Amino acid sequence: MTGSPIWHPFTQHGLVDPIPEVVRAEGAALHTREGRRVIDAISSWWVTTHGHAHPRIAAAIAEQAARLDQIIFAGWTHEPAETVAAGLRAIMPECLTRVFFSDSGSTSVEVALKMALGYWLHRGEPRHRILVLEHGYHGDTIGAMSVGARGAFNRAYEPLLFDVETIPFPGEGREQAALDALERACSAGAAAFIVEPLILGAGGMLAYSAHTLKAMHAICVRHGVLFIADEVMTGWGRTGSLLACDQAHVSPDILCLSKGLTGGAIPLAVTMASEPVFAAHYAEDRARMFFHSSSYTANPIACAAAAANLAIWREEPVRERVADLSRRQAAALAALSDHPRASNLRHLGTIAALDIGAAEGYLSDLAPRLLRFFREHDVLLRPLGNTVYVMPPYCIGDDDLDRIYRVIACALDEV
Ligand SMILES: *Cc1c(COP(=O)(O)O)cnc(C)c1O
Repeated sequence: MTGSPIWHPFTQHGLVDPIPEVVRAEGAALHTREGRRVIDAISSWWVTTHGHAHPRIAAAIAEQAARLDQIIFAGWTHEPAETVAAGLRAIMPECLTRVFFSDSGSTSVEVALKMALGYWLHRGEPRHRILVLEHGYHGDTIGAMSVGARGAFNRAYEPLLFDVETIPFPGEGREQAALDALERACSAGAAAFIVEPLILGAGGMLAYSAHTLKAMHAICVRHGVLFIADEVMTGWGRTGSLLACDQAHVSPDILCLSKGLTGGAIPLAVTMASEPVFAAHYAEDRARMFFHSSSYTANPIACAAAAANLAIWREEPVRERVADLSRRQAAALAALSDHPRASNLRHLGTIAALDIGAAEGYLSDLAPRLLRFFREHDVLLRPLGNTVYVMPPYCIGDDDLDRIYRVIACALDEV
């Protein structure tokens, strides 16, 4: 599209790459204005779980839009929101008794941080130090950037980001160093520890063990430091289980969900909180209420999509699809293991990743060259630096998955 006034996200308009126009999507396929069929190998940036235009979700959105489109949520409620909250209570960790709505993964993280600080203030022992995991990513608003890794993407804003204490990434062989650092940081007193459970997404699809996740949680429990699980990417089956935390039998104090919450059809997020976090804000004193809202908090149309997603999880064999895709991903990835330019092959649930050549960082020119190659071959893949990952919708067929890996194999040879 030339002459468009649109300023695209994470896009350098000074480079002349074409911006394809998508007119329709279905299952794992995107159809462009030019009539090309593109395989969505990254679930449209990790959001589409069941597949594009799932009939139940699409119908729920249409029906709700005609019935009740929007209503202020401060002091008012509606059925779709109540259905989502009850549905989440039924399948999310038992201790998470409260559901707070917002609009995106980033806002769910902002809410989580504000809840943690409110918890400590209202208990009469104010704490504000936040512990984070090295290479973490939690969104692009100022607070979410503050608890994420610093780099090229936030250099301009760094003077405004608040200080956090970073725990080293617990990669293989470095688990104990990370646990020791966390133990020290918790002993010194901290409000909360925020983590992406089991796998760091934007940080490069870096996985660590369930055992380590469990040990990190245990340290926080021992010191009374709130444990915030950011499952914005890992939730809804991505890592093979409903939540990544499930694999470590960890119940966080605060849980962030977004992306797959509506099946990826429409923006919505929730921050779930344990009863003590809610109780700290509960009083007859208006000064202690939770001061957060946005215009579209718990928008009924978005909630109807989330309610449909929850029904799909209850009534369709989603867990079987996830298990099946996980097996196929593992097999397809293994077939690339002998390639001399592929390294660091890793696989967790429906996510598979590998590195091409040597690490060159996010701004290396390998990524745009790969991006171009994949686009020319009608596959939507968006490498993170020299890391190529495959994270398709759960409905993807064998032919499409095979094609993704054939194109990656060609890229290994040619790019
Ligand atoms: C994508 C992501 C976010 C931010 O979500 P948005 O909806 O893009 O604001 C936060 N945390 C994690 C782990 C993510 O992957």
